Amino acid sequence: MTAWQDRFDARMMRSLGKPLAKLARGEGARVWDDEGREYLDFLAGIAVNSLGHAHPVFVEAVSRQAATLAHVSNYFATEPALALAERVVRLSGAGDRGRAWFGNSGAEANEAAFKLARLNNSGGARTRVLALVDAFHGRTMGSLALTGKPHMRQAFEPLPGGVEHIPATFEALEANLDDAVAALIVEPIQGEAGVVELPDGFLERARELTRRHGALLIVDEIQTGAGRTGAWFGFQHAGITPDAITIAKGIGGGMPIGGLVTFGHASDLFQKGMHGSTFGGNPLATAVAGAVLGEIERAGLVENAARRGVQLRERILGLGSPLVSGVRGRGLLAGVALAEPIATRVQAAALESGLIVNAANDSTIRLAPPLIIGDAELDEFEARFARTLDLAGRG
Ligand SMILES: *Cc1c(COP(=O)(O)O)cnc(C)c1O
Repeated sequence: MTAWQDRFDARMMRSLGKPLAKLARGEGARVWDDEGREYLDFLAGIAVNSLGHAHPVFVEAVSRQAATLAHVSNYFATEPALALAERVVRLSGAGDRGRAWFGNSGAEANEAAFKLARLNNSGGARTRVLALVDAFHGRTMGSLALTGKPHMRQAFEPLPGGVEHIPATFEALEANLDDAVAALIVEPIQGEAGVVELPDGFLERARELTRRHGALLIVDEIQTGAGRTGAWFGFQHAGITPDAITIAKGIGGGMPIGGLVTFGHASDLFQKGMHGSTFGGNPLATAVAGAVLGEIERAGLVENAARRGVQLRERILGLGSPLVSGVRGRGLLAGVALAEPIATRVQAAALESGLIVNAANDSTIRLAPPLIIGDAELDEFEARFARTLDLAGRG
């Protein structure tokens, strides 16, 4: 039998990096590789497995819905899709006029948001779409046009036009918002950039200026949503009301699903026939997302994310390692700032120590554990992360 690494090299598209391990199963905050090695999973599929692995609620929802009605088409309504739309409108505070559209991924959610921005054109007068430097909004051509990372974009240009990337500063907001702006899209915390928070008051100021100029404020909640930061959605910490949010990752708990939720007048922009997706909003995906969000609500996991996030920071800083210069982020989305650019080495040392983390950039380790973690997982994390830093420090 050929080693899995060789099979991967031979047949998987080269766009995928070298896998860290070959995983075989999971339970709670743990996964096991094909040789039976156990790891504590503090990445959760990049903020996806909100309930951890093989949670009974997830398993039951997949099984029940698969045995009932998995897919129809957008020619029909189904109860799971209706109920999920109502739920995400309620949780996001989108209010009386709130509406939801479902697709299959984050990138697809942002494609829909980009189309929404184009529809806010005031008869052609609004030609500009603003996004932030270092923003990550996905890898499809439209979502890549919104992404502010030149190295991801270069090979694929020309991308859809009209997008400008501005720094996350008050000055840039004030200098760039005018009546030609159709929309501003922002992540409440830039996850892919290394868990980088917006300056205090940035979302509030962005809301004021977009409202004044008739531009949409679109918040990309794909990584920060579903309770991860200790609120249902990251924008809620700022107390603002956006015009739209995009969601994916954690809302499905492992089931591929994404969506766009619109607020107020933004709910009236899409008209019949303007957008669609064959799989989008099918009963299987929406039933599972509904069950996942229902369990987050029932078990108080948004509050748990807030509380455990504070404890996680205390545990990391309490190690007193000279390799750690700080912890960014909120709730259970944390960026451990390293004093040296050795994140890849730390990620490898973590794996060696039975811990899954992510090198988000050269000097940041991203942590996004399942929202279900408790004292036992934090104890285990602390021990394994101490060993990790020790190993990496010696490397
Ligand atoms: C992951 C992510 C995306 C892209 O989602 P995919 O499901 O990978 O297409 C977009 N925006 C943010 C903020 C993300 O974290």
